[in-house]
Amino acid sequence: MKQELDDRLVKTFPLTYADRHKDKTVTCMCWGFNVSEGWLSIVEDLSQKLETLIQEWLTKNPDKEHPRVAQVKEKFGLLRVYLDYYDSKRDGDPTVAAMWSAINEAAAVSAKTCEWCGSPGVFRSEKMPWKKTFCDDHYALWLSGKRPWVDTNKEFPKEIDDLKSILKSIPKEKPAS
Ligand SMILES: [Zn+2]
Repeated sequence: MKQELDDRLVKTFPLTYADRHKDKTVTCMCWGFNVSEGWLSIVEDLSQKLETLIQEWLTKNPDKEHPRVAQVKEKFGLLRVYLDYYDSKRDGDPTVAAMWSAINEAAAVSAKTCEWCGSPGVFRSEKMPWKKTFCDDHYALWLSGKRPWVDTNKEFPKEIDDLKSILKSIPKEKPAS
């Protein structure tokens, strides 16, 4: 994600991303937001929910370290967000439970949203070594070796051509309506 978007998220949601600039020995959040910009609005919506829930949690626990996000990344084609919160009493705080619910809902939305452009997408998992969520156009670009999150001019290794020939024989997946 672009630095300006990263900065904006951290500034807008200071409780949620309180550890953004902490050391890597403390948090994975030091690596920033490891998702493509097609998912920006999903991350923003989730961040808004988490920020509100953290504020609510703080009214009940004013003297404690509040839950915060420890990592934001794409993994196996889904938006994965991890909270840094250890429930020592395992008391199932309903506010924390609501945070996890919001995180899971955001992951479900990401499975229907192109990582690259934010258009309706399909979770591409059939016979794929990497699970990704893309619209048809960006799926085709991805197969041709383009990556939104790395050097898009980079040539891909031979294995990708082998993969493409395998994929040609598979019927094209259609986005769910
Ligand atoms: Zn797309």
